[in-house]
Amino acid sequence: MAKFELPPLPYSYDALEPYIDAMTMEIHWSKHHGAYVNNLNNAIANTDMEKLSLEELLSNASKYPVAVRNNGGGHYNHTMFWQIMTKNGGGEPKGELKSAIEKTFGSFDNFKAKLTEAALTRFGSGWAWLVYNKGNLVIGSTPNQDNPLMDLSDLKGFPVLGIDVWEHAYYLKYQNRRNEYVANWFNVINWDEVSARYVEALKM
Ligand code: MN
Repeated sequence: MAKFELPPLPYSYDALEPYIDAMTMEIHWSKHHGAYVNNLNNAIANTDMEKLSLEELLSNASKYPVAVRNNGGGHYNHTMFWQIMTKNGGGEPKGELKSAIEKTFGSFDNFKAKLTEAALTRFGSGWAWLVYNKGNLVIGSTPNQDNPLMDLSDLKGFPVLGIDVWEHAYYLKYQNRRNEYVANWFNVINWDEVSARYVEALKM
């Protein structure tokens, strides 16, 4: 029996139009995320790794085969990514997260500029992140499907928010214009979910 499963997309393929098109969503979820789940299951099949949670696999990624790092990261990152987007999203966070962002970055606009810069300067495929680490909010990026929970990641902490900047996330609609994709992505952020992740991080 396969241990990990592709979680259902929490909305229809066209829910994030016009910012993210339906075909990109369908391929991204069913094919790309689907492949990460299948390849992760194959990588851990009939080994002691089958007993471990996804978080345990990531936090010790340096000790496991590279297929676990790549596909375990891919599974975690995309599971989070679908949840932190929503139809009629965007705007600004509220509550504790709003205060923390303003305290750390000076203003929401400055936070947005710094996250955008991280997303645009990540060379090749990867993710840009807002993470919570030891009392601080930090912006950074990781290559490929690495994520800040991994022991081998330079950027460390709990992922509060992450934007996928692999070409598969935007190329059908935006081609080479990563800057337009990133600018529009702010219109689909599910701040309720991102705020809930921040509150979860505070408890750890
Ligand atoms: Mn992706």
